[in-house]
Amino acid sequence: MDPRGFPTTLPEFQRVFPDDAACARYLEHLRWPNGFTCPKCVKLGEPYRFAKRASVVLRCRACHANVSLTATTVMKSSRTPLSVWFWGAYLVTTQTPGQSALQFQRQLGLSRYETAFQLLHKLRAGLVRPERDAIGDQHPVEVDETLVGGRTEGEGRGNHHKTTVVGAIEVRTRPPAAEGKKQKRIIYAGRLRLRLVPDRGAKELTKFVQQNVAKGAVVRTDGWKAYDDLQMLGYTHEPLVLDGDPERTEAHLPMIHIAFSNLKTWLLGTHHGVSAHHLQAYLNEFVFRFNRRFYPMTAFNSALGLAAHASAPTYKNLYSGNSPAKPPATPERIEAVLRLRDRGNGRTSRREALEGDRNVTTT
Ligand SMILES: [Zn+2]
Repeated sequence: MDPRGFPTTLPEFQRVFPDDAACARYLEHLRWPNGFTCPKCVKLGEPYRFAKRASVVLRCRACHANVSLTATTVMKSSRTPLSVWFWGAYLVTTQTPGQSALQFQRQLGLSRYETAFQLLHKLRAGLVRPERDAIGDQHPVEVDETLVGGRTEGEGRGNHHKTTVVGAIEVRTRPPAAEGKKQKRIIYAGRLRLRLVPDRGAKELTKFVQQNVAKGAVVRTDGWKAYDDLQMLGYTHEPLVLDGDPERTEAHLPMIHIAFSNLKTWLLGTHHGVSAHHLQAYLNEFVFRFNRRFYPMTAFNSALGLAAHASAPTYKNLYSGNSPAKPPATPERIEAVLRLRDRGNGRTSRREALEGDRNVTTT
């Protein structure tokens, strides 16, 4: 089991989510970590639960409003059982990325291809939303461009249809290992951003940096002149002065090169080349998975359309009874409940989800 509570193996997953009722309990816990709060009358208290199999509907005892557990998720109005959705989200976020609907249908044992296709499509939609917050507010950032191959069917090998992708990645530093422990590589990759650009001119590249990297950040690039304006635009620009030597470039920009190399392997291996038309969606999906590689629970929740930063319930409180364990009322939790009341429903905004993400990724 992952320290954050996410099952890391199939048997574990089966143990945590054995049936639809377990999945429903999970949804309830995520949405109301402090206990059910009616979105209509805002009363806090145990709802009425329908005995009928694994109902996704709870009823407020005060105002009798029915509240669907799936209303704000990708599972909304679906007739597919929750457990199938959960298995699907698990596969999409942990197994080989970019699998086909046919593989998906077989793995989930679905009788209809259409159902598998719809499920896969909806789950993946949660993985391709571009992220909007700026990176580099706490770490130096490497920026570089690369060519990504398009379809070359029947045209042989070559650079035709190749498209330019610009990327930015945070370079984080590990604290020294405790005595007696083996020191891992000192630097490692933080958050990544990738964008398809029409050319590698100054206009496109500086626009990308301005939209994705926090102002004032340390930005490392090669000696390409298109980056010359970065210092003037408020960044601490560290260009590679003596350019042209591949080894020096490698040493100056190691992380973005690793990311580009992984990206190309993934595109070739699982998609056999992607047309430029769809490339940005694939870039977003790649970035999503890359940025959450240490946080599988966040990815799993996002695929299902759940609040990405919500903490996972433990196995114990999923099974200890009907109601989720009540955490102590810290100022943050009280504020969260008040926000919930203000808004009138349990859905967190995109903004909050992103902030939650950042909290998760920087701890
Ligand atoms: Zn109510």
